Amino acid sequence: MPPITFYPGPSKIYPKVAQYLQDAYDSGILSANHRSQMGMALVEDCIKIVKEKLAIPLPYEVYFFGSATECWQVIAQSLSSQSRSIHFYNGAFGQKWADYSAKLIDDTLPIASQDYNQAFDLVNLRQSLAGQSSNDVLCITQNETANGTQVDMPSLAAIKANNQQLIAVDVTSSIGGIALDWHLADVWFGSVQKCLGLPAGLALMVCSPRAVAQAQTINNRQFYNSLCFVKDNFDQFQTPYTPNMLAIYLLKRVLEDAPTIAEIDHQIKQRATDLYAFFVENPTIGLQALVSNTALRSATVLALQGSQTSVAAIKQLALNAGIILGNGYGLLKDKTVRIANFPAITDAEVERLTSFFKTLA
Ligand SMILES: *Cc1c(COP(=O)(O)O)cnc(C)c1O
Repeated sequence: MPPITFYPGPSKIYPKVAQYLQDAYDSGILSANHRSQMGMALVEDCIKIVKEKLAIPLPYEVYFFGSATECWQVIAQSLSSQSRSIHFYNGAFGQKWADYSAKLIDDTLPIASQDYNQAFDLVNLRQSLAGQSSNDVLCITQNETANGTQVDMPSLAAIKANNQQLIAVDVTSSIGGIALDWHLADVWFGSVQKCLGLPAGLALMVCSPRAVAQAQTINNRQFYNSLCFVKDNFDQFQTPYTPNMLAIYLLKRVLEDAPTIAEIDHQIKQRATDLYAFFVENPTIGLQALVSNTALRSATVLALQGSQTSVAAIKQLALNAGIILGNGYGLLKDKTVRIANFPAITDAEVERLTSFFKTLA
């Protein structure tokens, strides 16, 4: 049996991707010009199924990019360039985003929380934003893959209610895994190698009409991936450059088969609750949730902490049992393990995981 990977990205891909790869080859799409009828039809069909399966409101636009990292750059250059880029984060991915923005936007304001058990303090947040301009962009990492925390939809709603700026949300490790309330932000983005169960090399960006309007007002067209230029191309189901047609094809095929996001959301959240409960019920395993505040726990990326020696031993024993656990990330590297709870991972595989952990209890 090949090992089961619970790595939170790149992560397990759907086994049916093997057949879809062959189908892509057989269909001729991989040699089609991206400005041909065939190429444009694929982009159009893919966007249609993305919007349908992820329940994205009609007026929102969907664009493809190469990675979430590219989306960080696009947001800075096309949306924040005449104002401030304000970043709230409590972990390594949010910090990386702020660091990238700071290289591109002089007026980047990082607001870091050192405590992943504390929700963002909205009152102080407003104070720290005094003098805000409605052209600023608030950047939030909805699912912090590094430490397994989340900003849930009610918290996003509160942030939106208290602020007038555009809100940009990194959902790289939650898009396709939980239901997102698209109305609560203006720019959402994430790549496909996490909850969408696909090989890396494609990212989705979902933009509200307000985000598109702000990009058009700023009208940055300096870069091949400037948002206005990208939009002009996508209006014709094209891209400024030759896109990754294979990835677009695979995304379309995987989503065609996928249940509704409401069903996936239910399954993923239930499985997360059960897994967190499992470690409470089995304390002798030596791992416990890193995040004690249950409202802040991610459903798609579970972070568990233990002593450095037990974490190293558990990872090795898991490997011997054919199970790849995710390493900790950044400062948490040696004292945490991360477990992806992504839709491509089956309930049977999660049972194999808990059976393994029971042998340690
Ligand atoms: C994985 C990840 C990224 C980086 O994604 P790439 O596709 O490698 O650019 C960014 N943000 C978060 C929250 C992630 O989990």
